[in-house]
Amino acid sequence: MKLRFNRPLGWQLGLGFTLLAGICAIAAGIYLYQIRQHLGSNYTSLVADVIRPQLHTVLLRSTLNEFQEDPSDSELIERFDNLLWRIPQHIESVGFGLRKNQFSPPEYEVSLHRLQRVSEKLPDLRQALGEVADGAPPDDLIQQGFAIENELAQAYSRLSELLHSEAAKQRVVMDRLAIGIAILILVILLLSGGLMIALIRLHHQHKRVLKLSLMDELTGLGNRRYMLNFTEHLFEQSQRSGQPLSMALLDLDHFKRVNDNFGHPAGDQVLRAFAHALLDEVRKADVVARIGGEEFCVLMPKTDTAGAQALLERIRTRVEGLSPQALGVPTAVTVSLGLATASHQDASFDQLYARADQALYEAKTNGRNCVVID
Ligand code: GH3
Ligand code: MG
Ligand code: MG
Repeated sequence: MKLRFNRPLGWQLGLGFTLLAGICAIAAGIYLYQIRQHLGSNYTSLVADVIRPQLHTVLLRSTLNEFQEDPSDSELIERFDNLLWRIPQHIESVGFGLRKNQFSPPEYEVSLHRLQRVSEKLPDLRQALGEVADGAPPDDLIQQGFAIENELAQAYSRLSELLHSEAAKQRVVMDRLAIGIAILILVILLLSGGLMIALIRLHHQHKRVLKLSLMDELTGLGNRRYMLNFTEHLFEQSQRSGQPLSMALLDLDHFKRVNDNFGHPAGDQVLRAFAHALLDEVRKADVVARIGGEEFCVLMPKTDTAGAQALLERIRTRVEGLSPQALGVPTAVTVSLGLATASHQDASFDQLYARADQALYEAKTNGRNCVVID
């Protein structure tokens, strides 16, 4: 079993960030679209509210001009009367529209007040029109009519001006708001991106530290702590499932001599060569660790004594046959191996370990370079 600490946090964070960026982009897009839509529709409806009634001033002027020429035209008098009836209604609807939109009411109030005054004068004008229809002279009516038309035109024109400038100001505010939101989202994305990068780095660092704390630097195998990480789990699994768990302790024979004869660095090279051979022989599911100077351990899940013994013999023979080139020293190296397979009598992993250790001790006392089964 190789040292493996891969947890897919990196891509999980990357995916999370992509999702966050996507959601932010969609939310910002929808919001900005709605701002533009809302702004456009308000502006359009307000301008339409004011421009439409402005036509009445044009109509009033042309009607007055026609009336000046022929004050006795009954059809014209009827049209004139109808117009004078419609103008106050439109003034009312303009007032309603503006108040509903609530843009700078005080400024609009002045113009609305002016329109209101015009509106109040119109019933008198209608009465005068009735009198003219009954034969009264039209001069006063025409004079009053042009004065009202003038006042009406001025009030509408001022209102239209105010409305345009207000709409322009509102557009600037909305544009700034949109830019502000875009910047805010960008800042959020940058911050969360930075945070995720920091988290990924932290995670990698944590993984590195964890790996170092469980790894034997010289051989690249797991260390004693690494082995202990697996033991409880494998032991309990074997006890629960009833499947065998074998454990071997391996100790190089007369290793002190290798150091003494060829130096410590040469001894290190022998340890590396031994670890390499060991890894090469075991199965993927086996746990291999260097638990001391020249002591190693192999945990073999789902392996009975016969299977484990065959594997250990293979290892022993392989080590015995390692060439001086592979070992880096001009001498042969042998290993003693103690084997124990977990039984129901083993109440704990420590007991299994003690049995394997006893077997190793016997292998040493039996002359070394052999496998002893407890
Ligand atoms: P035995 O057959 O009884 O096991 O004899 P041995 O010489 O192998 O055992 P002993 O315990 O007397 O000596 C172990 C030696 O292993 C002593 C120590 O210097 C050496 N050793 C321990 N760790 C390392 C290491 O990391 N590198 C090297 N080169 N030598 C080491
Ligand atoms: Mg030893
Ligand atoms: Mg030894």
